[in-house]
Amino acid sequence: MITVDLRSDTVTKPTAGMLEAMFNARVGDDVFGEDESINELEQKAAAIFGMEAGIYCPSGTMTNQIAIKCFTQPLDELIADQTAHVYRYEGGGIAFNSGVSTRLLNGYRGILTPEMIEPEINAENIHYPHTSLVVLENTVNKGGGSCYTLDQIKPIAGLCKAKGLKLHLDGARIFNALAHTGDQAADYGRYFDGISVCLSKGLGAPVGSVLLADKDTIKYARRIRKVLGGGMRQAGFLAAAGIYALDHHVERLKIDHAHAQILAEALSNSSAVTNVLPAETNIVLFDTVEPADAILKKLAAQGINALSTDKHRIRFVLHLDVHPEQVEHVVKAVGSLM
Ligand SMILES: *Cc1c(COP(=O)(O)O)cnc(C)c1O
Repeated sequence: MITVDLRSDTVTKPTAGMLEAMFNARVGDDVFGEDESINELEQKAAAIFGMEAGIYCPSGTMTNQIAIKCFTQPLDELIADQTAHVYRYEGGGIAFNSGVSTRLLNGYRGILTPEMIEPEINAENIHYPHTSLVVLENTVNKGGGSCYTLDQIKPIAGLCKAKGLKLHLDGARIFNALAHTGDQAADYGRYFDGISVCLSKGLGAPVGSVLLADKDTIKYARRIRKVLGGGMRQAGFLAAAGIYALDHHVERLKIDHAHAQILAEALSNSSAVTNVLPAETNIVLFDTVEPADAILKKLAAQGINALSTDKHRIRFVLHLDVHPEQVEHVVKAVGSLM
């Protein structure tokens, strides 16, 4: 039977080429700054986004949490959309790691505008937490892979600059956003103080995320990473997978997006489905007539594994390990629902 895992783009296994790159990695003790593969990955990622420096971490949660720690002081407040990964899915780390409160806004599919942000910036007053940071997510995971264009980001960056706020990007899926908008990665460095880039989502590396910022921020970030227990040693074997992913798995994200379009189309033709959110990138969110769990069971019987994000909402995520014949299989299964 054909099986398809649409639960997440984190389920991918390293390809033969990636494994070979890992096997051949030049490594050293990264806590001493001596791992050539990690140094190369950090410099490469920074250059791609027009940033000065980078730091390799085990997870996107860690790069985000380090960035928040670097850009705030205890008693500060940060602004983010209410669906933000940094708030919802990082275990309360903003409060725990940084002693910072969070102001949540109601964006459209997670997308914020300067008009939404400006009134939520606290005036200087001892009653109020000091607003010091805005966090954007691109693409928005909970928004179903919705994207900001750089033109939407520029006025937010302008507002942050005018108000003395830092701006961090949770770019777990930034390359998916770039594939959709056609914006240039190198332009991003001018608008953000920090950028987290995940290598283990659509890019298909087994582990890792890079935080990009200026040299001083990254120097401080190395202290924070050590405190959090994220100082690794010969982790160049993992970084080599990240380098390989940047070299070989960025262009192909378009394939995942095309697959998402095919599934969105099939779903919108199904009488078992009431609504399909626009599939801008590699995520398809859709609402079902029957409870999501019942539909998931029917799909599972056909070898298709997915997750519900609500009682009547299911999420399909496309990735490197979903091939055209598997997409065809899902289209057929969707056609047979109900
Ligand atoms: C996956 C993800 C992260 C990082 O998660 P880890 O599991 O810690 O790597 C951060 N932000 C978003 C939007 C994500 O989807």
